[in-house]
Amino acid sequence: MPAMQNAYPSTKLSVHDTVKTRTCTSCKKTISPDEKPVIFLCPNCGKVEIIRCNMCRKQGVKYVCPVCGFVGP
Ligand SMILES: [Zn+2]
Ligand SMILES: [Zn+2]
Repeated sequence: MPAMQNAYPSTKLSVHDTVKTRTCTSCKKTISPDEKPVIFLCPNCGKVEIIRCNMCRKQGVKYVCPVCGFVGP
């Protein structure tokens, strides 16, 4: 039973703990939780999450998989 959650009815606490900082794979920019980045596993190796911010998605910036070096649009 999640007893601790009941002890903290405030929503402020849990939000900050669960949101982990994401970095755009293409431009290395830190993505704020308000943004809705595209997140998907590398189509080649499937071992790493590729994260693209809104800007890179609109501009079609290429990404490089840090694990296998796959370059994708
Ligand atoms: Zn980006
Ligand atoms: Zn890969």
